[in-house]
Amino acid sequence: MFDFETRRDRLRKRLRREGFGSILVTNPVNVTYLTGFTGEDSYLFVHDDDCILLSDGRFEVQLKEECRGLETYIRPLGKNIQQAAQHVLQTHGGQVAFEADSLSVADWESISDGLRGVELAGTRGLVEELRQIKDREEIAALRLAIRHAERGFEALRASLRPEMTEIEAAHFLEAAMRSFGAEGFSFPPIVAGGPRAALPHAQPTRQSIGETSFLLVDWGARSPLYRSDLTRVLATDRIPPKLKRIYGVVFEAQARAIDAIRPGVTCDEIDALARKVIAKAGFGKQFNHGLGHGLGMDIHEAPRLARQSAQILRSGMVVTVEPGIYIPGWGGVRIEDDILVTRSGHEVLTRLSRNWDDAVVDW
Ligand code: ZN
Ligand code: ZN
Repeated sequence: MFDFETRRDRLRKRLRREGFGSILVTNPVNVTYLTGFTGEDSYLFVHDDDCILLSDGRFEVQLKEECRGLETYIRPLGKNIQQAAQHVLQTHGGQVAFEADSLSVADWESISDGLRGVELAGTRGLVEELRQIKDREEIAALRLAIRHAERGFEALRASLRPEMTEIEAAHFLEAAMRSFGAEGFSFPPIVAGGPRAALPHAQPTRQSIGETSFLLVDWGARSPLYRSDLTRVLATDRIPPKLKRIYGVVFEAQARAIDAIRPGVTCDEIDALARKVIAKAGFGKQFNHGLGHGLGMDIHEAPRLARQSAQILRSGMVVTVEPGIYIPGWGGVRIEDDILVTRSGHEVLTRLSRNWDDAVVDW
């Protein structure tokens, strides 16, 4: 399974380069990344030669199951997590990094108030930076999350009926992914018919599928800890010609961008390739979001494929490529796949067909 010890060692190396001896990790996803612990309200203190997970009595059994051998500090009743952090920091002393992105000002005040012999310094994205590069186990987990999502979608595709509402379709998809082995879903699925597909983040409604001639579905599965993210459009044979044309443009934009993915290329270069195809077809203004995002334990991680994102792609990163064209009052098309950056280029992890012919179904 996951090698949490190696992750913590990489973090220590990174800390030393920044001049810190230790860090208080408060972002729950980062705590999970470094320990495998999935409970709440817990912090991780990583220092030179060891680490301590600060938690409370509710999680004692879970901690033993999920992070065997890890040192823990179970806060006494009446002491909150900030007081527990203060106690542990006080015991160790020195300069301690904290995660400025996830610690609220109130929590920071509670921890630092009265702290002696400890200097707290805010840092940003130290653990998130490590999380960008996926190792073999993480890639295997992502592949599994993708497979569960794809099987769920195939089941939905075969079960669509005109009287089914968007909400029912979304629930069907969630249940199907779970029945194929997913732990849950990455985010509540988007099922949006016709004009509602023009909203990149549409909520499913009680509108029935039979009332529209096409559907946009954006969904993913969580299969332990890692999340997949895909988008497909489905259409009946009563297809508006405009839809087929727009689909072709989005398809080409996505293919151009995916083709160019390899280590050493910047994220904005990839974004620009897709944007150019869409602008050339006359829909530049209708592609109003970034091309894609990193994927892992969070649904949106670094790096970002977007304008002015100068980050360089590196082997081991996993990103989505999801161009879209949205026309208010008419509808929208987005195609989204998950791509691994490999040493020699890339691998498309998603296997679900993107071809127009497979987008056409009967309902
Ligand atoms: Zn998505
Ligand atoms: Zn996405």
